[in-house]
Amino acid sequence: MRPEMVRVALFKGAETLRIDGDGVLLTDGRGEPLRVEMPLEVRRSGSGLSVNGKSVNRLVASAFSRISVNGKGYRALVEVSAADKGLLVVNELPLEEYLVGLINCEISSAWPIEAIKAQAVIARSYAVYQMQARRGQSYQLESSVMDQVYEGADVEDSRAAYGVRETAGEVLTYDGKTIQAFYHSNCAGHTESSKNVWGLSIPYLQGVPCRYCGESNPIRWELNLPMRKAEASLRGAGFQVAGLRELRVRGRNQSGRVQDVVAECSRGSVVIPAVAFRKALGYGTVKSTNFELRGGRDEVQVVGTGSGHGVGLCQWGAKGRANEGFDYREILSYYYPGVRLSGGYGR
Ligand SMILES: [Zn+2]
Repeated sequence: MRPEMVRVALFKGAETLRIDGDGVLLTDGRGEPLRVEMPLEVRRSGSGLSVNGKSVNRLVASAFSRISVNGKGYRALVEVSAADKGLLVVNELPLEEYLVGLINCEISSAWPIEAIKAQAVIARSYAVYQMQARRGQSYQLESSVMDQVYEGADVEDSRAAYGVRETAGEVLTYDGKTIQAFYHSNCAGHTESSKNVWGLSIPYLQGVPCRYCGESNPIRWELNLPMRKAEASLRGAGFQVAGLRELRVRGRNQSGRVQDVVAECSRGSVVIPAVAFRKALGYGTVKSTNFELRGGRDEVQVVGTGSGHGVGLCQWGAKGRANEGFDYREILSYYYPGVRLSGGYGR
């Protein structure tokens, strides 16, 4: 069977790129060889590219070993084209090789092997789902937290490779279809239902209690948020909160996370769903929707637990469960109730 190939967007909007490597075959996108010396400096030029000063429509670099892009190594094939803004760089590589690199971006290969296998299965399921959903598009996966973090082949190692190989081709399915296997870093006690985050109830994403993540790694965070900064961020996200003078929590859902934030402004109060509040302030700033707001006039203190949207598998919880002796099948069926583990990419 031909290995599944996945297309991952590495850079979007880059101004220039430096590409290097040994034994790299370069073509112009129509299959014509491109005769230029390594290393390459690639820039946007008109509707195409300039590669070491030479104009081409597109650049395709392929290698048996690795291709270096801005100092990081990538496998198989790297494609550069002009995007709406700057350059678009897509890495096309076998799905199983992508997963080996992904392990050390999403978790750590020093974690117990059953947690690594669980991560391999959910990342493969997530990728297969997106490959079907975004078929025919120029890429199917972002290399950031928008999909799954991927920073290339330099972080691959033998434990990551072992976890991927031991689960080769295995995905989670529900009703015979590959699931959208959402996951997150740390749920701080209870995972979240998809309905509370995206408004869509999915049978296997209803939220379950999770005590292991809190025991192994209780994540607490806090930040002092100046009211003016909150106002600017919320207005930037389209909320009419001019003259913001108070923020408070309203309601919590069954997982304990905040439902809404009420913003008192000069023209009355505005109700902001907590998920939208977190997005407006930044996912890295407000690490989860499990927080309290401690008031002040010029500044509000945000004190929270957990990290990530909370839906699906909790990575730190999976680590705790693996340490307790659960195998990856048990870990997966706990976080995604009712799903099946299917071989052969679920087909
Ligand atoms: Zn957890």
